[in-house]
This record gives sequence, C-alpha cells and structure tokens, in this order.
Amino acid sequence: MMTQYLGLKDKADGCMLFYRMGDFFELFFEDAKQASQILDIALTSRGEHGGAPIPMCGVPVHAAESYLARLIKAGCRVAIAEQVETPEQAKKRGGYKALVMRDIVRFVTAGTLTEEALLEPRRANVLAAACLLRDKVGVAAVDISTGRMELEECAPDDMGAALARLGASETIAPDNWGEAPFDSIPRGAHEFSSEGGAERLCGIHGVATLDGFGTFTRPMLAAACGLLAYLDHVGRGKLPLLLPPVARHGEAHMAMDEATRGSLEILRSSTGGRSGSLIEAVDRCVTGAGARQLAEDLSAPLLNRAAIEERLELVQWLYDDALLREDLRAQLRSLPDAGRALGRVVAGRGSPRDLGQLRDGLAGAARLAGRLARVEGRPAMLDALLPALVGHDRVIDLFSRALVATPPTERSQGGFIAEGYDADLDELRSTSKDARDAISKLEAKYRDQTGIAALKIKYNGVLGYFIEVPARFGDQLMAPDSGFTHRQTMAGAMRFNALALHEEASRIAEAGGHALAAEEAHFEELTAAAIAARNEIARTAAALARIDVAAGQAERAAEGNWCRPSISEKCELAIVEGRHPVVENALGAQGERFVANDCTLSQFDRLWLLGGPNMGGKSTFLRQNALIVLLAQAGGFVPARAATIGLVDRMFSRVGASDNLARGRSTFMVEMVETAAILQQATPRSFVILDEVGRGTSTYDGLALAWAVAEAVHGVNRCRCLFATHYHELARLADTCEALTLHHVRAREWKGDLVLLHEVTTGPAESSFGLAVARLAGVPGPVVSRAKSVLAKLEKGRAETGGIAAGLGDLPLFANVVEEAPKGDPLREKLAALDIDALSPRDALGWLYELKRQIG
Ligand code: ADP
Repeated sequence: MMTQYLGLKDKADGCMLFYRMGDFFELFFEDAKQASQILDIALTSRGEHGGAPIPMCGVPVHAAESYLARLIKAGCRVAIAEQVETPEQAKKRGGYKALVMRDIVRFVTAGTLTEEALLEPRRANVLAAACLLRDKVGVAAVDISTGRMELEECAPDDMGAALARLGASETIAPDNWGEAPFDSIPRGAHEFSSEGGAERLCGIHGVATLDGFGTFTRPMLAAACGLLAYLDHVGRGKLPLLLPPVARHGEAHMAMDEATRGSLEILRSSTGGRSGSLIEAVDRCVTGAGARQLAEDLSAPLLNRAAIEERLELVQWLYDDALLREDLRAQLRSLPDAGRALGRVVAGRGSPRDLGQLRDGLAGAARLAGRLARVEGRPAMLDALLPALVGHDRVIDLFSRALVATPPTERSQGGFIAEGYDADLDELRSTSKDARDAISKLEAKYRDQTGIAALKIKYNGVLGYFIEVPARFGDQLMAPDSGFTHRQTMAGAMRFNALALHEEASRIAEAGGHALAAEEAHFEELTAAAIAARNEIARTAAALARIDVAAGQAERAAEGNWCRPSISEKCELAIVEGRHPVVENALGAQGERFVANDCTLSQFDRLWLLGGPNMGGKSTFLRQNALIVLLAQAGGFVPARAATIGLVDRMFSRVGASDNLARGRSTFMVEMVETAAILQQATPRSFVILDEVGRGTSTYDGLALAWAVAEAVHGVNRCRCLFATHYHELARLADTCEALTLHHVRAREWKGDLVLLHEVTTGPAESSFGLAVARLAGVPGPVVSRAKSVLAKLEKGRAETGGIAAGLGDLPLFANVVEEAPKGDPLREKLAALDIDALSPRDALGWLYELKRQIG
C-alpha cells in the first residue's frame, strides 16, 4: 500500500495528498503533520517506513469539505486520490489480496474551487496566469465558479497593478521566469504558448477564430494557454465552465498598484477582513453576484466619461424612484446565485438543487424584465441589459416541468424529478407506492393472523424489509408451518421474513432501482440543456448583478445622503463637504459626528500641503478624497454634498512607514520603493496622496526627502496631490512652488487640553501639539513634563541657529536639481570612476575611442 501511496504522492506535484481508505481520507508523513496542526486533529502513526513509524491522520469523507476549506484557507493545495475500482474488480484483477487501484481524481486549490461551501458568496475567486513574451506581460484570469475569463496585456512595470486589481487567490507563471509574480506557482514554461492558447480557446468555444470575442495579443494568448493547461492538470482533464474570453485593455481603467489598494483598504481593511473596508461601507447589494460585481467595479474604476455617466444615470434613476428600487431589490433578494450554480453544473459537480436554482434564477430574471419593461424613461444602460434577462423560456419550461419545487442537494437518492414529467417514472413510482401500501396492509394481516399486536414490519439497509416481534413471541413464529422464516435474533426481539413480504419488497427494490436510473438519465439531459445554454445563462446572471449593483448604489446614496458626482476631463477636483464613508460609519456607531471637509484642486493649485497635529484627521482627509474619486469613477454616488471629479488616470496612495515585512524589506525601504513608483509613473492626470513621507528615517533624511519629493511631484509629475506632513519646514515650499498651497487640520488647546476640530482650513499649521497629543493618549504626567523642558531647550536652540531647515531658503530652484544625471548611465559611471592622473596619454586616447564607441 505504501508503494501505491508514494507513487501517487509523486504525482501529486507538491500538493498535500488525501488518500481514500474506506470512509476516510488518510494523510501520511509530512502531510499528516502539517494537516493535523492546521485542522487540530489527532496525529497517529501506522506501520513503518525506513525504520520509523509513519505519521498519519485522517478525515471522514462525508465531512471532507469543511476540512478542505480550512486547509485551502491556510494556503495548502490538495490532491484527492480516490479508489478507481471496486474491491470486487480488484479481486478479479489480482486475486484475493489485490490492492484496490487508486488515482488522483482532482486537485483542490484556492483558485480552482467550485464547491459552494468553500467559496465566499460575495467575493469572486480568481485564478490568474502571467507570463512574459517579447517585453510584454500577458495576464489571463478566470473565476471558474462563474466561468468569467479575461485576458490582458501590460508592460512589465504594470504587472503588479494588473495582478493587484485581480486579487487572485492563486497565480501561476512559467518556471523559467526570474521576474515571476511573488508567490506564484511555477509551471512548465512550454505550457505558455500563444499558438496553443488560441487553438485551445477556439476549440473550447467551437469557433474557427477568436476575432468575434475581441482582439487578443500573443502574450494574452500565451497566458491563456498556461491557464488552461493548469486547469487541465487540476481537473485531470475535465475543464470547468469557461465563458468566451474578454480582452481587457489597461487604458480603460484607473491604474492602482497593490500598495495603493492596500492603503485605501478597498476590498479588505488593513487587518485583512472585509470589516472596515470601503466595500463594506458601500455594499448594499442583495445578491452575492451583485456584491462580486461591485468589488470588481471598485477594483477597476473606469476612465471613460461616457461609460461612467451611463452607470451613474442608472443609479440616479433608481435613486429617484424609491418604490421601484425597493421592489426590484425585493425581487433580486429572492433569486438564487445562478452564475455559481451554472459553474458547478458545468464542472460536473452540479446537484438537482443547482438545476432548481437555474430554473428559479432564470424565471426571476424574466419576471424582473417584465416589471422593468413597464416602467417609462428607462436609462440607456438598462435598455441594453433587458434583452439579456430574457430568452430562456425553453429552459425555464423544461426545468419547471421536470423538477420538483425544491430539489435536494443529493442526487443519488432520486426524488427530484417532478410527477407528470415522465410517465414511465410515474409508473415505477406508483409500483413502489402500491407495494409499500401492500406492505402496510401485510402488517395488519400478519397481526391478525398471529394475534401478536406488537408485530411490526420494519426496514433497514442490511436486511431490507422484515417482520419483528418481541422475543417472547419468537417461538410461535419459529414453528415450521407458521409461514415465516427466521432471519435474526436480537436481544429483545426476533426478526422474520415471509413470502408475500419478500415479493412486495422485491417489487419495491426493482421499481426503485429503475426509477433511480430514470432520474439519473433525466439529470444528465437537464445538465446538458443547461450546458448548451451556458453563455446565455451567464449573460443573464451578469445583467442581474449589474442591476443589483446600481440599485445597491442608489440605496446607499439615499441612506447616507450621497450625491451624484459630475465628471469632467479637466485636471480638477472640487469636493464640497466630503466625508470618509468608513470613518463616518465608525464614528456614527459611537454616536459621534463626522466633520465634512472641502477639497479643491486645479491645475493652478494642484498640491496641498497639509499640516496639523497627529490624530487631527490628516490621513482621513487624504483618503476620503481618494475614495470619493474612486467611487465616482466606479460609477456610483459619493459621500459629499457636491463633487466634480476630473478623471484620474492613476491613483497612488502612500502612507509613511507601512509594514510589508512579509517580503523581507524594511519599512523605510518599502516607503521609498513606493515613492519611487509615484515619481516615475504619476502623470498630470494622476491623483496622489502622500501621508508622512520620510517618517521612517532620521529627521534630517526625512525632511530632505519629503522636501525633494514634494518639489518633484509639483514640478515634474504635475499631478493633483495631497501631501500630509508634520515637517513645519516644508511650508517654505510655498514660496517657490506656484501651484502649492498650505493647509492644516485645526486644533485648539483649551484649558490645557487639546481639542481636535478635524476641520481642514487654509494656512500653515500653527503648532505641532505633539505633547498635547501624548497627554491625550495617556502618557504619564512626569514624562510629558520632562518632554516639555527638553522641547523648550530645543526650541531655544532653533531660535538661535535657525533650526534644522536653516539655509533651505538658499536652495537652488528645483528645476536645476532635476537636471542631475540620470542614474544608471554606464558612460557617466565609467567617467566618474576614471583616475585621469593615472593614465598615460596613449591610454587616455584609447579611452576616448572606447567612450566614443559606446555612444555610437
Ligand atoms: P492624523 O492622520 O492627522 O493623525 P487621522 O486621520 O488618523 O489623523 O484621524 C484620527 C482620528 O480622528 C480618526 O480615527 C477619527 O476618529 C477622527 N477623525 C478624523 N477625521 C475626522 C473628521 N473629519 N470628523 C470627525 N472625526 C475625525
């Protein structure tokens, strides 16, 4: 057995192996140790291998799903090895002692789940593949729970942002690629071929060319090829639901890298959960599919004004008509998740209940379409969605006739095909029913006949139907001429059979077997019908999700007094009384009021330097404006009294000293890497928030960097930017940077206490209030007093010498500084390293020739 196990483990490709033995999946060796820890189950041992006992643990098959869920969550990938023949077949093949053959039937990995229990209803589950082809990165992504597939191409520098948007739970990449995404699973490089990708996709969708689906580049197709090969591998050749691929073009969306997404806490808060995130504060969708669509919208805000206005128009329409909105939401709420049911059906793991969900989902969509068609003044987007909601009459009719009202999740027991659908099945069922009636009549008859009132006819899985009497009546029935045959003696009872009972029981068994087979055949037909209509069903599910998102956005806006943003193409931002949706919620829960603040940026006033005490509300202000831009470009209303949003092509959010130790970089290093990305990538159409840049290093370094970064953002990137800092010295930048203005969050010391007003006003920050904040935070009195005397000394020193920023006023203008040599110029490096004095004239001439050659 161990030989078989080890052979399978070899094939498991580094995954944990679930080895089926009877009613258990067993794990051995390292797998067992790891799993027993994660699952908190007993680690035992069995036999010996190489002179040591083999560690082992096991999980019952019937409960395997929940254990799998926990392993997947903990980052494991699991290979499932099942018995692929019966013990009888094994005996026939190899004699009495033959081992039942086992094989890996599938892999369960984070990105390839379809089980309802393992998926979060409100989150997409994405598997991504990335590869490099001729200086371009191709990215393919699929959510196999719904079949959505998209392909994208980007520059290598933008791969991080592209993958961050997808938020894949599993990413694969060629094993020979040095720059493969962090944490990706290496796969054979030969699996990423563009021709292979095109061929596979054409084959899967039964088309001769992919042109009808969009324009796909070679890197996109190569990534798709790798993705499909991996799906083949994990499904052991059985592909999940795959809808026609959609080509996604980076330029259609606002770019945000991973750090920005993390710091804005869009889909997840910094603690990792949904709680405290933007989506939690915004999501009023009533369906899982709607919530998934909203997450996608927030992950990929649009850049096209017309497309944004289209979404906004639908939200507005539903915002204006509260009754209609309520009605729609009530209807949507009752609908099952047809998209995911379809995913399971196509993956071959569908249940009768999934078919029922398709029926109910499609019928509900048709009803909704009917309701909407009667309303006047529909927005264009809704008119475009309506046709997608209908057209399933045949499937709805078939499934309605074929299935019972609430089909079971278990298909092997039958009972899901409705009466009247199949006359033969009805006949078989009535035979069973007749026989069961007959059996209950027999019970009465046998009681009469024997005079034993306690006689019962019972059923169990081992004996089938039998007659049971209390032990003391046993003898009476044991008599040779009693007409009963003895089957079993129990502690207090005896069990018998009788000819008539046996006949009826056989009738039931036979009819039951045939009925099950008939139901099974119908199940296959219905599944085939669903698969044939898969693209249209998926389209309907997507349209429902889109309507749910709009209705949810309208609901949220009505609830929180949000406004419709107006979208412009100018480099401007004018937010009146903006609020931070998450902080406002949190404060509201404690009965506190959020102070709304304005933010107005334009080409001529594009950089706001924001000072003020810690805890004064600087970060909140920065983020709220970024979130308002994001919400607006995702096509929703925003938490403000009014807002004009000049379209933002890239958004950056940097917070000083954020931790990213997982990747082995110091905090300050991370901060600088991220800042470098902004300086390299931000365009005049970008929006940047910088929070306490330079905090992670010494005061001098920090101030110097913050100064230089602010100057560069202002003079080179020329983007809109909010820059929070506690370096008062930066205020001097206002003298030289014409589009930079000073602002601060207000605070007052009142009777020795600090009052934070959370109000943003113009002008430089008056004082840092650091000690007052420390006292507010509960730092002991003596320590604060001591700090006060240290401060007095420092301030005296500053007054005498001009402080750490003394002399900054004489810095040459920034424009001169940018001219500094571009770094990494080999020619310059060579020249710099050259020791001219040590050269002979002849060598010097040689050098000159060499340098000339290098330029040429
Ligand atoms: P800073 O970045 O200046 O240190 P934060 O933005 O982190 O300050 O805000 C600190 C706390 O102040 C927040 O957690 C919140 O409770 C409160 N706060 C911030 N902004 C506001 C506001 N506009 N209205 C009310 N309370 C606010």
